[in-house]
Amino acid sequence: MNFTIQNVLIAAVDDYATVDVQVVDGAIAAIAPSLEVVGTPINGKNKLLLPGFFNAHTHSSEMWQRGVIPPLPLELWLAHLYDFAPLDIEKVYLSALGTAVETLLSGGTSVVDHLVLIPGQELETIATAVRAYKEVGIRAFVSPLIQDESLTAGIPSGESEQNHEPYFRPTQATLELMEEAVRQFHRPDEGISILVAPTGIQLCSDALFEGCIELSNQYNLCRHSHLLETKAQEKLAQEKYGCTAVEHLKRIGYLSDRTSLAHCVHLSDTDITILAETKSTVVHNPLSNLRLGSGIAPILKYRQAGVNVTFGCDGASSNDSQDLLEAIKIGSLLHNVTDLDYQQWITCRQAVEMASLGGAKGLNMADKLGSLTVGKEADLVLYDLTKLSLLPRTDPIGLLVLGRPTNVVESVWVNGKQIVADGKVTTIDVDELQQQLFNHSQWDTNRKSQSVREIETHYRAVMGLS
Ligand SMILES: [Zn+2]
Repeated sequence: MNFTIQNVLIAAVDDYATVDVQVVDGAIAAIAPSLEVVGTPINGKNKLLLPGFFNAHTHSSEMWQRGVIPPLPLELWLAHLYDFAPLDIEKVYLSALGTAVETLLSGGTSVVDHLVLIPGQELETIATAVRAYKEVGIRAFVSPLIQDESLTAGIPSGESEQNHEPYFRPTQATLELMEEAVRQFHRPDEGISILVAPTGIQLCSDALFEGCIELSNQYNLCRHSHLLETKAQEKLAQEKYGCTAVEHLKRIGYLSDRTSLAHCVHLSDTDITILAETKSTVVHNPLSNLRLGSGIAPILKYRQAGVNVTFGCDGASSNDSQDLLEAIKIGSLLHNVTDLDYQQWITCRQAVEMASLGGAKGLNMADKLGSLTVGKEADLVLYDLTKLSLLPRTDPIGLLVLGRPTNVVESVWVNGKQIVADGKVTTIDVDELQQQLFNHSQWDTNRKSQSVREIETHYRAVMGLS
């Protein structure tokens, strides 16, 4: 398993250096020019080596609905999504494989899967995703998506009196389920971590958040939630707590240096200060926010306030791909139109650091992952700089971020184990996966959601749309 990548380009301060990189027992052992070859020699000539990126927020099973949901805001989109959610373990398996493969081939070595659970088969859903990620060999942060309020509770009431169905599973049972998942599957040393992941304030009680905090403290788990993705959620927080969602989450002790929060579109300046003080991480999902009309997260403000930011694709029904390089490109460029001061715009090198070290920080693993540093684990991606989309030779990182790189990932290692070689995943049969995805689906262009019809009138009234 030991190897030495020879004559490879790496980023140096403001420039590049050509070096050899030795990997021994899964960790980076040395980085310098002309090193002695340890283990297998690997030709790094005309290739760029970067630390693996983090796909820091996604929902793998949404793959089955990608490209099909009409243009709707989150609250209605969710109703549509859940009307057609795949309730099939085999599909969970295939979409986890697909999510892993697309992440790997766009520069990611880690995936945070905010995993939608099949009711009544919750542990089986988790086991299946874990099995898929282990087979591929990607580092996975499996975050079972839990809630204890029914979907309609996520829409503000406005002036009206709203009654919501109770959620089908009691809060305590959900927490017990989570503890069992941790016992069975939380194996960070083997590349599989379980996170506590209450979906967000819109559908979770304080009791659920508090139970998650306890589990997180007891088992040293990271915490992951959606936060203030939409205007409606901002309104809902005021209705529910009489303060902002961030103020409330701080009060109950949910925010910490191992808490990552997807979206964060509608935050006040005070909220931003709180995220900085609590060392929470923001996961920027620019494509999803555009697709659902949620808004543009004030990422440059976060960065100036010292908040750690990284990128996610979000689920494939609100993106509708799992191309991490695309998320990084849009997530960097988007802010050039919101902020006049170009000196604060995100540079390509900053984007790369956000996607790698930023991801590692958000998962409390910055001491082990996220940069090419001797002693860190070898989660590495080798890009082929002779591919058309990275030519002619200009600035490799500039082209990787701002260009439209296709088929440029040549090799990937996770924990020193090679899982992509010559641009192909070596651990699973991707042709077979494609065939299975094809077999388990059909062309489907005109889905009508009953739930959207039921809640749309109320949603439009409360959001002031006549
Ligand atoms: Zn999400």
